[in-house]
Formats: sequence, C-alpha cells, structure tokens
Amino acid sequence: MNWSFKIARLWGINVYMHWTFLILLGWILISNMNQGQTFAQSLVAVGFILILFACVVLHEYGHALTARRYGILTKNITLLPIGGVANMEKMPEKPIQELWVALAGPAVNIIIAIGLFIYFQFIGGFPNIEEFTGEITSRNFLFNIFIVNIILALFNLIPAFPMDGGRVLRALLAMRFERAQATNIAAKIGQFLAIVFVFIGLLPGSNFWLIFIGLFIFLGAGAEANFETTRSALSKYKVRDVLMHQFTTLHAFETIEKAVSILLDGQEKEFLVEQDNEIIGIVTRNEIIKGLKEFGQAASINHIVNKQYIILVPGMELEEAYQKMIQSNASICPVIENGQLIGVLNMENITEVVMLANAGLERKILLEKGVKL
Ligand SMILES: [Zn+2]
Repeated sequence: MNWSFKIARLWGINVYMHWTFLILLGWILISNMNQGQTFAQSLVAVGFILILFACVVLHEYGHALTARRYGILTKNITLLPIGGVANMEKMPEKPIQELWVALAGPAVNIIIAIGLFIYFQFIGGFPNIEEFTGEITSRNFLFNIFIVNIILALFNLIPAFPMDGGRVLRALLAMRFERAQATNIAAKIGQFLAIVFVFIGLLPGSNFWLIFIGLFIFLGAGAEANFETTRSALSKYKVRDVLMHQFTTLHAFETIEKAVSILLDGQEKEFLVEQDNEIIGIVTRNEIIKGLKEFGQAASINHIVNKQYIILVPGMELEEAYQKMIQSNASICPVIENGQLIGVLNMENITEVVMLANAGLERKILLEKGVKL
C-alpha cells in the first residue's frame, strides 16, 4: 500500500486514499481563491469534491459487496484523483454474476440521484438546470451532487473496458460465446468507441476531455483483452505440463563468484539454492550482482539467498500458479512431488505458453508434453 493511507474501514473493507488526492484538494482550494473567492467559498468547492468522492467510494462498495455475495473478497478500496478502485481478488467468471457485480456500482449512483430527486420534490421544487454551471455554492451544492451522480452512472456505463459498461457488455456476450471470445468482441467494440471519442474530441469546439477518455478506454480495452488471453491460455495447463527439468541448483556454501560464473556461462537468470539436499531458497541475477557488490566474490551464497519462495506441486492449475507467483513476486519456483524436487517453473515458461497460444501452437506443445487431447 505504498503512497496510500487508510481513511476508513466500512463493511470490513479498508478504504485508502492516495496522497496525490491531497494535491487535488489543495489545488482546488488555491485555484478557487486565486479566482477571487473567499476562503469559505473555496472550502465549499473542496467539500463538494469530498462528497463527490464519497459517492465514488460508495460506487466501489456497490461492486465489492455484490462480489462478496458470490464469495469474492475485496482487499481494499483505493481513492485516486481520477476515481476509485476496488481491488477485488478477481472478477466472477459466471456471466450473470459478473453482470450484477458490474451493474452494482452505477446502481449506487442512480440510487443516490433518486434519493436527492425525492428530496428536491419534498422541499418544494426541482432546481433549475442552469444552476449546474459555474461555481459551486451552498445554494446549488446538492443539485450539483445530483447531477454528478447521474454523470458518474452514465460515464461508467459506457460499454468499453475499463468502464463497468465494458464488463456488462462482456457478461452479456459471454452468455452466448466463450469468455475469451466475448472479451475480444467487447474489447474491439470498446476500441472502436475509443476512436470515435478521440475523433469527436478533435473536432473544433469540442471537449478536450473526450480525447483523454478515448485514449484511456483504448488502453484499457487492450489490457483487458491481453489479460483474458493470458488467462485462457494458461487455463488449459497444469504446472506439470510446462515445468523445466533442466536447471542448475546452487549450493548455499558455494561462493558468489561461482554463482556469477554460472550466470555468465548460460541462459539461466534465477536459481534454486540447496543445503543438505534441501531447497532453502532462491536467488536471482539481480540479487547475485547486488551481493557481489555488498559482500564480495568470496562470500557464500548463503548471504544472499532469498528464503521467501513458494513451492508448487505438479497437479496445480497453471493459472493458479501464475497468480501466486505474481502476488509473491516470485521469479522461479521449485516444483515438488512427494517430497522430491522434480523441476522448476519460472515466469519465462509462463510467457512462452502465452506466446505459443497466441501463435496458435498450443495444440503442438500439448501433444509434445504428452497431454491427451
Ligand atoms: Zn464501477
């Protein structure tokens, strides 16, 4: 949780604020005062942003609490100057569940807007739409909150990744197509929309923000399509199918000099370290080079071994192994069966699987590895 600090804990989920958010608040305060407003008036503008972001946090809780109903936990909700992020473990894979999780966020903003609408009727009259321009005052404060909640809901429902609408679209498509295919179609639609946004944004007199939103969506759609391609490529394998049998193991009492010579002599960049016929950790190229500077070449590898490593078993799904490796930042993992070291798996193996899958060669490696089709 670098650069973020905790501001609240609701429904068992911590809410963090990125420190750059404070810059946004400071900037709003100063720019309002520079425009000749009083300190009190400027504080109203800051208060408006705080309430707006409270609505964003509630939107994220909409996603998180709906996901929880399907057994998916949310690690935290983080508030950035550009919006909120609910860090869910994963997205539900059942289309109907993804649909509800995606819709729940915008639904929160619509509920807030409806609540305010009822309030306006109650206090005798709906404010004039012209009040939603220019500066925020205490008079038009709630009306502005009403409008931005509608904007938040509509903006998030744009049918393109990384917006919620992109997930809604994918979920609907996944009811008819395979998930990877549904993702690709949704990503293509999103990228087409992104290009339309950029074009409209480039027209004279048009809003510059459209260009920014277009680029944001274009990159988001590409990232989502990549993620899904990786996931679907890996989902066909187990650790056993792709592990490496040829690898070098270093001994804890060998010297760093020896490690450097092995490093220079071959292609391997990370190694298992053993002691008394047992794996005690791993060491990477960077750690060897750092150790060389710090301890000198005569020091033993024992000084630099990283004991935080994860053990994989051959029957584990490759997708699960990949997620574990990403989470713990592990570049190489021993694969152990019945207490016996039978191979290693590194990030390169996984990248190769994805590359081969993209090249349409997955059938070939499956056959080579002797997997029955
Ligand atoms: Zn959302």
